[in-house]
Amino acid sequence: MRQKIILREVGLRDGLQIHSTFMPTDDKLAWITAEAATGISEIEVTSYVPPKLIPQFADSEAVTAGALAIPGLTASALVPNLRGAQRGIELGVHKLNFVMSVSRTHNMKNVRRSPEESIADFRAIVDLIRSQPEGRRPVISGGLSTALGCSYEGRVAVSQVIDYAVQLLEAGAQELQVADTVGYADPVQVRNLFKPLLAEVGNVPVAAHFHDTRGTGLANVSAALDCGITMFDASLAGLGGCPFAPGASGNIVMEDLCFMLDSMGLDTGVDLEKLVQVRQFIAAALPTIAMQGALAKAGLPRNYEFAAHRVR
Ligand code: ZN
Repeated sequence: MRQKIILREVGLRDGLQIHSTFMPTDDKLAWITAEAATGISEIEVTSYVPPKLIPQFADSEAVTAGALAIPGLTASALVPNLRGAQRGIELGVHKLNFVMSVSRTHNMKNVRRSPEESIADFRAIVDLIRSQPEGRRPVISGGLSTALGCSYEGRVAVSQVIDYAVQLLEAGAQELQVADTVGYADPVQVRNLFKPLLAEVGNVPVAAHFHDTRGTGLANVSAALDCGITMFDASLAGLGGCPFAPGASGNIVMEDLCFMLDSMGLDTGVDLEKLVQVRQFIAAALPTIAMQGALAKAGLPRNYEFAAHRVR
């Protein structure tokens, strides 16, 4: 049995968030539908923030409704606060990705709250979910941004990340997401964080969210795999960016990640050739945005044998 890896597309949220070019709702839904058909089982489809703050997500209701109609797909959405969670619950989204920053300064700038206030918000969200009738309760994920570095505070202490992770779990998080939001991490740092973190949180699923801002993204995935992480966020064509580094690349490139994992003999459940075709759709739909990625340029190696067909 090959090790299963869960890949989560975050391009529609993390990737589009930084771009002012509005992607039409129909294009977003076509992207979600096509990528779900490649075998990607979870997609973060939008963010429940006021449209005044981020106009890109003004269509969050239509996008959520469309994504929920796709059989077999887990549709998740980012929620920065209780109001966002209320909207998500009303819409019936499958999973709420709550996010707070480990760095106090980043959290204040990003959601205008101290980390303590964010934890209190998270508790209120969990209470709200638990007050819903069975079958109307989304999965709640606790996300820790800037867990591997911060543009304001620099290095972030491992003990601080673990401390907030434990607080989120005690408050009711069903899974965690640990993010290198600004692309500071290196593989040594990843090992130094994920080993003790996983030892602390036990069987709770933990997703790693890396950015490739400085080219260390896939090396960090490899280090996280060694620690036992089996759930990764990525975006097709590496869509995204960094508000602190204009022009920088964004999330790790989904199709490159998928190729690396398949090449390593791991089971992503994704049809890589179909995935590359979806990338072409995005490139056509977003002609003014730079597409990242090595696989799309080089193609698959000659005579490449997919992991599923390989004789060991
Ligand atoms: Zn991110």
